[in-house]
Amino acid sequence: MIMPIAQKITENDFTWCLHCERAFLTETARQITVKGEELQLCHYPDCDGTLIDFWSWSDVRKDKNGLERYPAIPEIGKVYPLYPDQTAPGTK
Ligand SMILES: [Zn+2]
Repeated sequence: MIMPIAQKITENDFTWCLHCERAFLTETARQITVKGEELQLCHYPDCDGTLIDFWSWSDVRKDKNGLERYPAIPEIGKVYPLYPDQTAPGTK
């Protein structure tokens, strides 16, 4: 069920996925049931990140210089790399 976004949204309402490095509203995580167990999947259908890949957005922002780098309210669908400055030569 899709809830209307009514109340004030804060950074605590967002989850960040280590797999795809994108953020989403925590309540929009996909739910599936496997062998009777409820699993949470990343909001984005092209990503197979699960609960263990989820960080709270506020933790991502607290990491390093995240507070300066990342907005309180992340853009949906935008990639927010965890270590954007640590690109080794020859890698992407
Ligand atoms: Zn993901």
